[in-house]
Amino acid sequence: MQKSAMSIPSIEVRPGYRLVPARVGRSDSEGTIVYVECPNWCVTDHVAYQAVFLEDVSHQGERHSVAFTPSQGERVPVEVYLSEWPALAEEEGRTYLAVDVDCEVASYGRTAALAMADQLVAFAADVRRLANTLPDDRPVLSQADEAPRRVREGRSA
Ligand SMILES: [Zn+2]
Repeated sequence: MQKSAMSIPSIEVRPGYRLVPARVGRSDSEGTIVYVECPNWCVTDHVAYQAVFLEDVSHQGERHSVAFTPSQGERVPVEVYLSEWPALAEEEGRTYLAVDVDCEVASYGRTAALAMADQLVAFAADVRRLANTLPDDRPVLSQADEAPRRVREGRSA
């Protein structure tokens, strides 16, 4: 029996992954659509976000962030998300937790990520303990509340 030259091979995809289109090519070109294995947690639109080389295709999960606003200077956002760079030899294609502090990204493996989570839980407990020692907040008056209050207090506007 003669095999058809047009037969499409069936492609095995690892559990937890799906095959998705990705646009690859120089930024001054339309690029080429290829199909890559993408973990189910990935939220990257690999067609909209064009990678120059196939090795540049990476996967990122949903971002979770907290921002501290200092009295001076810029706010410092801290973001965490799952990340995977399949083509990077040093990452060996492993999934890790990206910890982005003000655009400096560090990679945390499972043990380090869990240790950081423990540290954050302890930190949150300290914040709650200290917050509970504070006096009650003063009521915040809206401008709509301000006029009747002035009238009650016998002041003119
Ligand atoms: Zn992906």
